[in-house]
Amino acid sequence: MKSLKNWQQSLMDAVTDPHELIEMLDLDKNLLDDAEKASNLFKLKVPRNYIARMEKGNPNDPLLKQVLPIDAELIATEGFVADPLQEKKFNPLPGLLHKYQSRVLITFTGHCAINCRYCFRRAFPYEENNPGNPGWEAVLNYIQNDPSIAEVILSGGDPLAANDQTLKNFIEKIAKIDHITRLRIHSRVPVVLPERITPELIDAITHPRLKTILVLHSNHPREISSDIKAAMTSLKSRGVVLLNQTVLLKGVNDHVDTLVALSEALFDAGIQPYYLHLLDKVQGAAHFDLPKTRATTLHQELSTRLSGYLVPKLVCEEPGKLAKTIINPEFFCTN
Ligand SMILES: *Cc1c(COP(=O)(O)O)cnc(C)c1O
Ligand code: SF4
Repeated sequence: MKSLKNWQQSLMDAVTDPHELIEMLDLDKNLLDDAEKASNLFKLKVPRNYIARMEKGNPNDPLLKQVLPIDAELIATEGFVADPLQEKKFNPLPGLLHKYQSRVLITFTGHCAINCRYCFRRAFPYEENNPGNPGWEAVLNYIQNDPSIAEVILSGGDPLAANDQTLKNFIEKIAKIDHITRLRIHSRVPVVLPERITPELIDAITHPRLKTILVLHSNHPREISSDIKAAMTSLKSRGVVLLNQTVLLKGVNDHVDTLVALSEALFDAGIQPYYLHLLDKVQGAAHFDLPKTRATTLHQELSTRLSGYLVPKLVCEEPGKLAKTIINPEFFCTN
């Protein structure tokens, strides 16, 4: 049997037992009962490298809050549903979402390196949307037959949770389609498992015919550790464009100082802030939701604190729109 790579070992060693996480961080044992209940609905999963960046004994640690299952997840809240984006409507083939012009999104894998409690995936059966090999051929044919598509987006789950060979094979097939010029990968893996960025992975995701864009999903400045910076440098040296998207989360990053520090840490690591996303209203995540007025105020404050290129666009995702909705700042040009 082939031996596991470092990152695969780290993935296997991820903490999935709430008891272990609570012990490691010296947290109150009273949290355990609810953590176990909520973990039965959407499993706890967190790599040790990510836990190492948390503060011991602090139940409000912003990194911990993104992964620890809690009682609030068990409460049903009006307006928070299993499939808030109604993605099934834009799902012409298993594994493929074609919602916006000129780009398609592929749900490349059903799994992730970490289970984020706010995730829209927590209640949607993405694993069932994996079409298997004949299905992937159908997806490639669909893209081949629509010359209006210029960009293929690999999403998931998390595409970088797939192995190098799987990624390489698929990307080579995409590169054979003449009208595809850009490959975009959305991933949280480099943030929580920076050892995943190996020379083999970089070979797999770069292709002479394609421009590769990696959109990281980081939500807090403390997530940008020095090993991530090193990984970003090696991606940049191979021409990969680095962007970041953040989800605005109550209790995690809903303070202007945190958002300023995040933009600065990202830019320092060579990553351009792209989107600041409102939470998708998925059941079990209502406790992370912020009122829209609070979100726009935070975004206005952020705009006044930073250079324009450090300010991500505030957006939300709505079913049936031609693009993500840019949340209208209350300011208009009046001249
Ligand atoms: C977000 C999203 C995209 C990409 O949108 P951009 O605004 O280009 O980042 C594409 N397809 C789907 C289905 C999406 O949800
Ligand atoms: S899809 Fe992204 S947000 Fe959801 S669990 Fe995976 S890494 Fe977390």
